[in-house]
Amino acid sequence: MLAPSCQPRGARLRERTFHGFLFRKFDAWLPRLCSLSRVILHLDMDAFYASVEQRDRPELRGRPVIVGSPPTQRGVVCAASYEARRFGVRSAMPSITASRLCPEGMFVSPRIDAYRAESHEVMAIVRELAGGRIQQMSVDEAYIEVTSGGPCDSSPDERLIGALPLARKLKAEILTRRHLSASVGVAPNKLLAKLASDYQKPDGLTVIRESEKVAFLRPLEVQSLHGVGHVTAENLRRAGIRTVGDLQDYSGDLRPFVGSWAAELKRFAMGEDHRPLELGDDVKSISSETTFLRDTDDRTILRQCLREAAAEITGKLARRRLAAHTVLVKVRYGNFTTLTRQFSMEEPITEAGVLFRLGCWLLGREHLVHRPLRLLGLGASSLVEDRLRQMELPLRLKGGEPQRQRHSQSLPNDPYSKS
Ligand SMILES: [Mg+2]
Repeated sequence: MLAPSCQPRGARLRERTFHGFLFRKFDAWLPRLCSLSRVILHLDMDAFYASVEQRDRPELRGRPVIVGSPPTQRGVVCAASYEARRFGVRSAMPSITASRLCPEGMFVSPRIDAYRAESHEVMAIVRELAGGRIQQMSVDEAYIEVTSGGPCDSSPDERLIGALPLARKLKAEILTRRHLSASVGVAPNKLLAKLASDYQKPDGLTVIRESEKVAFLRPLEVQSLHGVGHVTAENLRRAGIRTVGDLQDYSGDLRPFVGSWAAELKRFAMGEDHRPLELGDDVKSISSETTFLRDTDDRTILRQCLREAAAEITGKLARRRLAAHTVLVKVRYGNFTTLTRQFSMEEPITEAGVLFRLGCWLLGREHLVHRPLRLLGLGASSLVEDRLRQMELPLRLKGGEPQRQRHSQSLPNDPYSKS
């Protein structure tokens, strides 16, 4: 056994905590004690939906696979294999465009349940190998924090390199057990870990060291940074900023271009990101969308669509014992312009009829159906526990129907649904 003076600092800390009040808080404190040397992995499955299809259907291997609606129907591409991406096919592109770009493309209907089941298997492997500090971002993406996995007195770069065996193991086990490939990024924060996993796809493994993060970011376009979309990128262009390097060098005030986000954006450009992993699995919103076979402004069709969406959403809310304070509608026109509008109620919403009427009212108030719609969506957010529903379970268990009374929610007039 090492003499105490030879032990790494992390080991000494760990021993002391057994006798002190630090013990319980140790895991929570350690990342902060070592705040300059976090180690975050970002795991991203390669062309997930298309890869599952190619694994399950050998005739699709090596072929340009496009998961989504066939080009004869209106609809979009959900995912494309790397072979199809070489032709410029991308997710969310209309299928008709995809078939024009890639005439040899093999269109496959999505099997969402199969992808969800596969996701479950992959994430189980991640949890088995990497422990509990995991933030799953989607069916095929997760952040893993392994900050507490190494001695505190090693350098930030050494700690990042120390995570490589785990990253390799994750990739190898997913390939062996699920026959699917994943790319992994290793970096000191979420922002960089995601860029790293994307850097050498497919089957990539990239480390962005603390000491080289600023140089790594310099040549990238500003849109590579988390949160920078078309509008922000356009605003930045007006300031002559195109690359992250331009942003790093910009000494003026960014607020006229990006508002209150200026300080955080500048930190992102320097490769600094203090966002913690969100380890809960809280649902933030529930929504339902319909893409029409033909653009429509027919009120009967739109109302029916909202009614069905409202029933679906409130059903999901009920299963989770949740209520929503905010309702939102989303419309997309034939030219792909997309608008969302929302409205918040003081009383939480749980009932399909209320959600439906609010959706209709928003469509009317905002004059969103001034031309035919390609897509109509309804959503519920600002979710809270439905306390009335929380009380129902014990009442039901005793037998008999619960006495359920709810104040009728006073709604604004609904000009849209009056025909
Ligand atoms: Mg992916």
